[in-house]
Amino acid sequence: MKVGFIGLGVMGGPMALNILKGGHELTVFDLDPKAVERLTKAGAKAAKSPREVGAASEVVVTMLPEPHHVEQVVLGPDGVAAGLQPNGVVIDMSTIDPQTSQKVGAELKKRGFHMVDSPVGKTSEHAETGTLTLMVGGEPDAIRRVKPVLDCMGNETYLCGGQGMGHAMKMTNNVLATTIMAATVDALALGAKSGLTLDLMLDVMKTTMAWSSQLGVAMPKKAFKGDDSPGFMVKLACKDVRLANEAAKALGFQPLTALGAQKTLEQAMEKGFADRDTAALMLIREKELGIKVRPGDGKPGA
Ligand code: NAD
Repeated sequence: MKVGFIGLGVMGGPMALNILKGGHELTVFDLDPKAVERLTKAGAKAAKSPREVGAASEVVVTMLPEPHHVEQVVLGPDGVAAGLQPNGVVIDMSTIDPQTSQKVGAELKKRGFHMVDSPVGKTSEHAETGTLTLMVGGEPDAIRRVKPVLDCMGNETYLCGGQGMGHAMKMTNNVLATTIMAATVDALALGAKSGLTLDLMLDVMKTTMAWSSQLGVAMPKKAFKGDDSPGFMVKLACKDVRLANEAAKALGFQPLTALGAQKTLEQAMEKGFADRDTAALMLIREKELGIKVRPGDGKPGA
């Protein structure tokens, strides 16, 4: 297929490479020339604008930071919709709110195009190996047409309902994952400051209801090594939990734990960690409390 890809960052870069490897013809655009170069070296064509990507493609994938980026890139004056081939499909894989997604989808429909939302779960490593979890929303016909493209990027696909429902699922997933992460950092900091070693805390919590993929998978890879290179950036996690809290407010309730997670992430942003991995939350607590939460050294909190 003729595929376009816009947003070639930590996630989008490797996802676009996998579309190329899948044998599709690829045209790309990003504001960052280096990100574009990585793809053109691998065989993609570079476009000068989202409109040019649309003109060259049957299907255009967007993988952008925030809702307003998606709106502007798809519907803006020089956007994808201004150039897209008749009956073309936009697949938005960014993490944005369902309302913006449905607004963009409705506008595309008015202009004779289709929109599928397919935000992704897991990490940049899974983006590289094409093993992301895909949460898909949209009309069955449009989803069927773009399935060969989606299959290049993910190996676990969940149909979530009509257009925007993939984003509703992703928002639900991320508010939980982010809240667990913020709570885990505080619990480990409390334990370490109280004189417990990380090894002991992990041994005990492995046997109890406190265990999670944060403790077992995510933190050993980054936070427990003191590595806050991105990864999943603080500003993106903050955006995810903020969108979920706004959506909850609009639906008439306040998720108090998630509001705490949002505050933790906002404080990390204020301290200058917006572009660092969320592992920075652990490093910030360590500095504040004069501790180190590291495995294997047997020293409590040191
Ligand atoms: P990133 O910041 O690394 O990449 C975003 C890319 O979009 C950058 O290359 C940037 O130059 C480009 N961009 C921004 N505005 C643009 C515009 N107007 N036109 C063209 N290009 C533009 O972010 P990322 O980590 O790749 O995340 C992308 C999306 O995926 C976000 O919505 C994020 O929440 C979501 N996500 C990230 C992860 C993760 O682990 N990093 C996991 C799942 C989902």
